[in-house]
Amino acid sequence: MTRLLIVEDEPALRRALVINLKARGYEVDDAGGGAAALRTAAATPPDLVVLDLGLPDIDGTEVITGLRGWTDVPIIVLSARDAQSQKVQALDVGADDYMTKPFGMDELTARIRAALRRAEATDLTSDPVVTTASFTLDLVAKRALRRGQEVRLTPTEWHLVELLVRHPGALVSSSQLLAEVWGPNYTTETNYLRVYFAQLRRKLEDTPSLPRHFITEPGVGYRFEP
Ligand code: CA
Repeated sequence: MTRLLIVEDEPALRRALVINLKARGYEVDDAGGGAAALRTAAATPPDLVVLDLGLPDIDGTEVITGLRGWTDVPIIVLSARDAQSQKVQALDVGADDYMTKPFGMDELTARIRAALRRAEATDLTSDPVVTTASFTLDLVAKRALRRGQEVRLTPTEWHLVELLVRHPGALVSSSQLLAEVWGPNYTTETNYLRVYFAQLRRKLEDTPSLPRHFITEPGVGYRFEP
């Protein structure tokens, strides 16, 4: 059985989450604060954590750091609509995805299933060839084909593409991408990403203005949808 840990200080929302997720067949533990969350996670390790970032005792990002000290468990954070920088910070310290409150139960369970699937597919790098309806990428041979025609990607474009396609569906923050590709002093240069993703979409997407594979999460980062 899949065990979830729900961390939320608002009692009514916590109760609703627990009831709904149990009804969907999950085993559910819950905690109303960060300290209790860390204790519960250590006592009965969960398969996935849903974590509210605004907690009364310790900050949600510290809870993530605490968990990441010993576990790769998928973490989906919940945050208020106006807390963009908080989301980015949460992703940078190791959260896997985020949801903005208020959210629908169906969307949350879809995100939970996707995060669990990604966690199970441990060896995503074993197949170096990524195929979508629009293009094929051979990450080892560094060959890109769109509709059977070879497309040339620059080394920087390959680097960006690889960071995203190795974890399909996962949200990668802009600062992570910038730090990996350009270096730690460039984490705020989000205009670089806008330029490079516009280029990549022109080269690879069927309709560059309506991208289906390289998706922007405004103010947060990018994800690859296969
Ligand atoms: Ca809260």
